Amino acid sequence: MRGLAGKHIIVTGAASGIGRACAARLLEEGASVMGADLAPGADAPTVPAGQSAWAFTTVDVTDEASVGGLVEEAARAFGRVDGLVNAAGVAGGGPVHMVDTAEWNRVVGVNLYGTFLTAKHAIARMLEQPLVDGARGAVVTIASIEGIEGTAGGSAYSASKGGVVILTKNMAIDYAGRGIRVNTVCPGFIDTPMTKAIFGEGMERARSEIIAEHKLGRFGQPDEIASAAAFLLSADASFITGHALVVDGGYTAGRDHGVTEMLGLSPDAP
Ligand code: NAP
Repeated sequence: MRGLAGKHIIVTGAASGIGRACAARLLEEGASVMGADLAPGADAPTVPAGQSAWAFTTVDVTDEASVGGLVEEAARAFGRVDGLVNAAGVAGGGPVHMVDTAEWNRVVGVNLYGTFLTAKHAIARMLEQPLVDGARGAVVTIASIEGIEGTAGGSAYSASKGGVVILTKNMAIDYAGRGIRVNTVCPGFIDTPMTKAIFGEGMERARSEIIAEHKLGRFGQPDEIASAAAFLLSADASFITGHALVVDGGYTAGRDHGVTEMLGLSPDAP
């Protein structure tokens, strides 16, 4: 991808799943990455040796001092912050009459407030930087298909991700004139520790129904989300801002009531 080599990018949630895959892909593209997560000491993702550099620090995206410290540390280490991927997140929800206020606040706190805080501090830093090739930086938030359509029991999670989608669009409008692009990726269900924790014992039926909703017939892989995030950060996406890119194996494409199969379009045909 054009324009990622030599860039300096912060990735939150970098110790696991999608964030870790984003860090690996950006390193592979020649960017330097400051990974950050709640837990200390994530090892560098395995990438070919090259011009990229990896650093890791702890952050709690719900704590403004911690997020401010992360952005300062990245700026000190790299001299510039060109990009942010906001992948820290948690699952949670339920029918609203059953959701504890503390659980609502935890989910919305990490997913939406945490996205606001990291974007706030990274963008403030980008605004101080001179333009390079006409740009100051790019931000990619990680929302969800659950931020653009409802899911039974989604409540806190869906609300937080819907908030991320519209926050992303608003930030895109606010900073376009200052050389900062802001986009969001809306993944379908991706095979990560988060989904493994959700689809434990007793969830087999829900899991197979959800797999069937993905028209490609499977969960996605973290590196398939990382490809989209890297593209949106890269110069190949230089005219894209305020976009919500679904990467969902066709989950949100629409319904399939089997009519084309009845007409003879066999899904098993060679
Ligand atoms: P994951 O494997 O659980 O990774 C998320 C990481 O974020 C974890 O390392 C987690 O740490 C960290 N984190 C949680 N709270 C944090 C905080 N306050 N500050 C800093 N880091 C924190 O989950 P994932 O599946 O990769 O999800 C990454 C993002 O993609 C999330 O925003 C998620 O909502 C979104 N997403 C995922 C899917 C999916 O199907 N997996 C689909 C759509 C969107 P702990 O493990 O210590 O909590």
